[in-house]
Amino acid sequence: MTISPSLLQKYARLIVRTGANVQPGQVVQLTVSVEQHDFAALIIEECYQAGAKKVNVEWQYDKKAKLDYLYADRETLGTVLPWEEEKLKQQVKDLPCRIFIASDDPDALNGIDPEKLSYVMQRRGTVIKPYRNAIDGKHQWVIAAYPSEKWAQKCFPGDDSAVEKLWNAILKTVRVDDNNDPVEAWKKHTEFIQQKASWLNEQGFSSLHYFSSNGTDFTVDLIPGAKWEGAGAINTENGAFYIPNMPTEEIFTSPLAGKCEGTLVAVKPLSWNGQLIKDFSITFENGRAVSCKAGEGQELLEKMIHMDEGASMLGEVALVPKESPVNQCNFLFYETLFDENACCHCALGMGFKEVLPGGDDLSMEQAQEFGINDSIIHVDFMIGADDLSIDGVRPDGTVVPVFQDGTWA
Ligand code: ZN
Repeated sequence: MTISPSLLQKYARLIVRTGANVQPGQVVQLTVSVEQHDFAALIIEECYQAGAKKVNVEWQYDKKAKLDYLYADRETLGTVLPWEEEKLKQQVKDLPCRIFIASDDPDALNGIDPEKLSYVMQRRGTVIKPYRNAIDGKHQWVIAAYPSEKWAQKCFPGDDSAVEKLWNAILKTVRVDDNNDPVEAWKKHTEFIQQKASWLNEQGFSSLHYFSSNGTDFTVDLIPGAKWEGAGAINTENGAFYIPNMPTEEIFTSPLAGKCEGTLVAVKPLSWNGQLIKDFSITFENGRAVSCKAGEGQELLEKMIHMDEGASMLGEVALVPKESPVNQCNFLFYETLFDENACCHCALGMGFKEVLPGGDDLSMEQAQEFGINDSIIHVDFMIGADDLSIDGVRPDGTVVPVFQDGTWA
């Protein structure tokens, strides 16, 4: 153990109280690796102290997941069994607070046939999706991280103090230290993000233009009236404010599906399904990814874009200044939760219907009519080069600089 029990306690409390914001009488669904059982116990106790009615745990183990992919056939792995579906139905009834603790080895599934991985994901995803849609916006959830040895070694290869270094970076990005009250620190942070989001909403941009010397030259249309959001969200069932990602630095919206042109060049590798895609760019025509080039992981990237009808269209555009504490850490976390908070990014796949006025009450089919993309995937990739500029264009043609040299203009 490299982190003091008091810091761990503060962190667990932050995740439960500020992140998930567990309310008295709520059921909690905790998803965590078996390796982090001690931290799981801290979280569970915090949940009960916050008044949780019951805490259920979904234990995960990435070595087990790899063995499944190596030995079990794809039909078996791709099938969602009736008892699994019953659990999903129960979730729709209970609307549990969901807490995810990310700690996986980024290379956990290296060597597994990408074809098999995407087949299994696709088949399971199709069955699970309607249940996810049914709880979307109606429950609180949060993803936070806990460093495993394997993950730390991936970030700092061969370094004896890898776990400690990753811990320090994680605690810095989630604003937990010995001398502060992280709950208060998050209040201030949340306010800053919400101010920037309000400014963007006042501008009413109809499109954004991205330029950078690395080859990014891209235009995307925005949905009229769709909101820019950041930091947190509100559970429409009970009004509880929660913070889905810890850390979070981004302000995001869902663009108009099928309306973008040009090329986006990634500035960081992408870890997808435990495998890496490096040095890549994606070119769009008529709103769809029509070609992609990767220095590594070409096959995987192509698979991703063809997962389903919506996988080749954008579901998210997000603004993150390069001064983000994640970027200041100056190493790749190999984990989207962190890496997506380093700089500006876009995501292929599912969009967020919540950004539409009254979006929470719309079905995904209705949201699609407004231009929200739908897909079984949602994959963020980083395009925030140090010299990235983004211009906002108003419906009357006025151009307003939004980002210059990778940060707020
Ligand atoms: Zn994002």
